[in-house]
Amino acid sequence: MEWATMRRTQFAAAIEADAVVVVPVASIEQHAGHLPIDTDSQTCFEIARRAAQATQEFPVLVLPPVWTGYSPHHMKFPGSITLEFKTFLDVLTQVARSIAHHGFRKILFLNGHGGNTPVVSGLRTKLAEEDGVGAVGINYWDLPGVPEAMRRICPVDGGSVGHAGETETSLQLALRPELVDAANARWIPGASGDARAASAEKGRALLDAIVPALVAYLRSYHDGTLEKTFDWTEKVSR
Ligand SMILES: [Zn+2]
Repeated sequence: MEWATMRRTQFAAAIEADAVVVVPVASIEQHAGHLPIDTDSQTCFEIARRAAQATQEFPVLVLPPVWTGYSPHHMKFPGSITLEFKTFLDVLTQVARSIAHHGFRKILFLNGHGGNTPVVSGLRTKLAEEDGVGAVGINYWDLPGVPEAMRRICPVDGGSVGHAGETETSLQLALRPELVDAANARWIPGASGDARAASAEKGRALLDAIVPALVAYLRSYHDGTLEKTFDWTEKVSR
């Protein structure tokens, strides 16, 4: 279910069912000469939407993506938009506090832009300890099982998500081929990885790995297994 299209009357049932709220977090930044600047936002949002649709046992609500993130290192290229580090942290904190204010207890920040990683990965502790809000944050390429799948599907870039390289270009070729300038799909300064190795087929295989991995992660969050992994315990789990 997409949060943005819900009516006020639909929220009570979702809160009652202990819905997980997914906040896609990404960026508007240059993606070399061949991908649209909203690549990270759209990829992340689409992964979240598909995982929400595939989860039947409890409601998963997907917010519109936080479309701008922390991208100061991309500002030398036209089209990029960035927040300052502190502002970005404040935006995510205030979005989470708003969601929690209505009674939701589980918020998953799904990140789609590497520059956001330090903020997103620190959110769980920050929000729990400073704001009393339950949340976790993870990059879509770090979901359990996904790094291995990426290495298998995109060997040229060694399984790295890169930037406008094999992985991201393949995902956009699968999701929005009409927006990819395939004739210009190659490395230029500001990119990372080899877009020439990309294909729509690889993109579909990536989605077939990432979406179920997110569904599994949502289930473990909803049933409490995930949060147990953050507990202080005598035995270290392997
Ligand atoms: Zn990207």
